[in-house]
Amino acid sequence: MNYEQLPDIPKDFLNSETGVPFDKCLVCECNLMEETQPYSIERAIRHYPEMKLKSVVFEYAICSKCTKTMESELSDDTKMSMTKFFMERFNYSERPTWQLLDASEEDNVGEEPVEPPVFDCNLWIDKCAINEMPRTELYEYSLCARCIGSKIIPEVAPYMISGLAQDELIELFSNKSLGFLDDFTDKHFSGPPELKELFKGRPMLV
Ligand SMILES: [Zn+2]
Repeated sequence: MNYEQLPDIPKDFLNSETGVPFDKCLVCECNLMEETQPYSIERAIRHYPEMKLKSVVFEYAICSKCTKTMESELSDDTKMSMTKFFMERFNYSERPTWQLLDASEEDNVGEEPVEPPVFDCNLWIDKCAINEMPRTELYEYSLCARCIGSKIIPEVAPYMISGLAQDELIELFSNKSLGFLDDFTDKHFSGPPELKELFKGRPMLV
């Protein structure tokens, strides 16, 4: 993958407090700007359409290594149900596409210059990837992306998932997996209990 050709991380996935990319893994605290491994970002948003107001409930970045470790803590039942849920419900076929230029096209001297593909983040996150509900009408939703350094990797993610679809997902969790999520939340999020409750519904989605 040609790193330089990837789009810069769009505003929706920058750290909302600093306005720059997340630089630390939530779990192992590795420096994401220096790592060569990809990482995932999730941002949960509460939206008040009547007041045109949005607030970030929580947001974090987790490196691939830590995501793998976390996945291994989930029960086999949970993993199977989640895979099934995504296979049946996620709108893979309707995802926007974004492709890198291949090198041969770039070398076509004398022909029309090939414009680099435009990455429009809104196309990817304007409706729920599970139930198609438009973002403008939702009260709660999460945005997910995969990034590397200061670039975003447009493949399946970025996507948006509505609070309702997340409620369906969490129903699939076994007690063992819920217990793991509880412990994880207590360890990494020191926020108010309300925030913790919200986070507990959060399988790693990217
Ligand atoms: Zn990590």
